[in-house]
Amino acid sequence: MYDFIIIGGGILGMSTAMQLIKTYPDRRMLVVEKESGPAQHQTGHNSGVIHAGVYYTPGSLKARFCLEGNIATKAFCDEHDIPYESCGKLLVATDALEMQRMEALWERTAANGLTREWLDAAQLREREPNIQGIGAIFVPSSGIVDYAKVTARMAVLFEQAGGEVRYQAAVTSIEEREDAVVVTTSQGDFSASHLVSCAGLMADRVVRMLGIEPDFTICPFRGEYYLLPEQHNRIVNHLIYPIPDPSMPFLGVHLTRMIDGTVTVGPNAVLALKREGYRKRDISLSDMTEMLGDAGIRKMLRDNLRPGFTEMKNSLFKRGYLKNVQKYCPSIARSDLTPYPAGVRAQAVSREGRLIEDFVFVNTARTINVCNAPSPAATSAIPIGAHIVERVIEHLTPSTEIGSMSSTGALSS
Ligand SMILES: Cc1cc2nc3c(=O)[nH]c(=O)nc-3n(C[C@H](O)[C@H](O)[C@H](O)COP(=O)(O)OP(=O)(O)OC[C@H]3O[C@@H](n4cnc5c(N)ncnc54)[C@H](O)[C@@H]3O)c2cc1C
Repeated sequence: MYDFIIIGGGILGMSTAMQLIKTYPDRRMLVVEKESGPAQHQTGHNSGVIHAGVYYTPGSLKARFCLEGNIATKAFCDEHDIPYESCGKLLVATDALEMQRMEALWERTAANGLTREWLDAAQLREREPNIQGIGAIFVPSSGIVDYAKVTARMAVLFEQAGGEVRYQAAVTSIEEREDAVVVTTSQGDFSASHLVSCAGLMADRVVRMLGIEPDFTICPFRGEYYLLPEQHNRIVNHLIYPIPDPSMPFLGVHLTRMIDGTVTVGPNAVLALKREGYRKRDISLSDMTEMLGDAGIRKMLRDNLRPGFTEMKNSLFKRGYLKNVQKYCPSIARSDLTPYPAGVRAQAVSREGRLIEDFVFVNTARTINVCNAPSPAATSAIPIGAHIVERVIEHLTPSTEIGSMSSTGALSS
């Protein structure tokens, strides 16, 4: 019998496990992960950006966690000798409409307490000779890191503190009893007093295993990247982002300096036809049936027909994708775009067809389930883990020290 079982060896599961065992060093804890190692899904397939907290609604959990996470991630890397770079980011406006949106972002960055600098076209060119725009916001605290390395280190710290990790242990069912939670996996049954799940693309399925019908469904959006050839490794000095269209949920195709010295372009956002489908040709009939059977996802697709179609077209034909980048980096040519591994975002869609922006938690008497942790959740993983530990502490009763957690509910930012 364990005190805690954590489902998911991504950055959120490992961050939670690491902080939980620090808080309760004498408790027995187990992480179960269906893959053969940590960070095999979203955590190991992302842009590797330590976000600063530019975009998020001031005062929201997302804004708070990102700001705290930016500092905490860098401190964790300093402590554990994990390479990262505070290279800073430029949000570049290329026309009058984007300039208007940039002004709104300028206000938002102030409200979110960020240090930033307004650059005119000449100042932009001085900093980034290969980037063209009519203005930009420079945010110095944005950085880059390899989140798979961060997660692997968290796993080591958890195990060194006495925690157990079982890889290739896929959770297939969960029974929540009055006195315990029984987790059935491909490696057998395990019981615990409490369960935390951080299952990313499978978050809604884990909630269903608890007998709860969630009011959202996870919709997978593939983010496809290209790698620039080595001679372009110094094409930019910072991360280069477009000014996002506020009606779109994702940040737009950006130029990302990676921690290994290469530069990637991307990601786009294409509906994936399989939850863990990293290639265009990956299709799962059962995942598709589930998606198309969901009224919320159907409505979201109907409401976003035009942008959805454009993303799909740009995914199939490089020309459109290239146009998005050439808008601010005209020297990139079609032949510069070589394929790079994609990532798949776990995006919760509400029954009303809304892409849920906030973090969502579903809690039962003995379980806490992270159900929507979109970007910048890798940046925010340390404060999110701390938040989960706080919730666990809140719900442990002083007499038995193992008590009940709050009733089912969603916590949004
Ligand atoms: C294309 C892309 C770009 C992104 N860029 C950034 C960025 O630059 N900066 C940033 O901060 N964030 C970024 N993000 C977001 C960030 O990567 C995620 O928010 C974060 O990694 C989520 O971590 P997680 O632990 O919740 O999920 P995951 O890393 O997906 O981990 C979930 C784990 O649960 C396991 N699991 C699921 N079901 C079961 C089961 N039944 N049994 C056992 N194990 C199970 C899975 O195998 C998986 O390992 C990006 C995401 C994508 C996809």
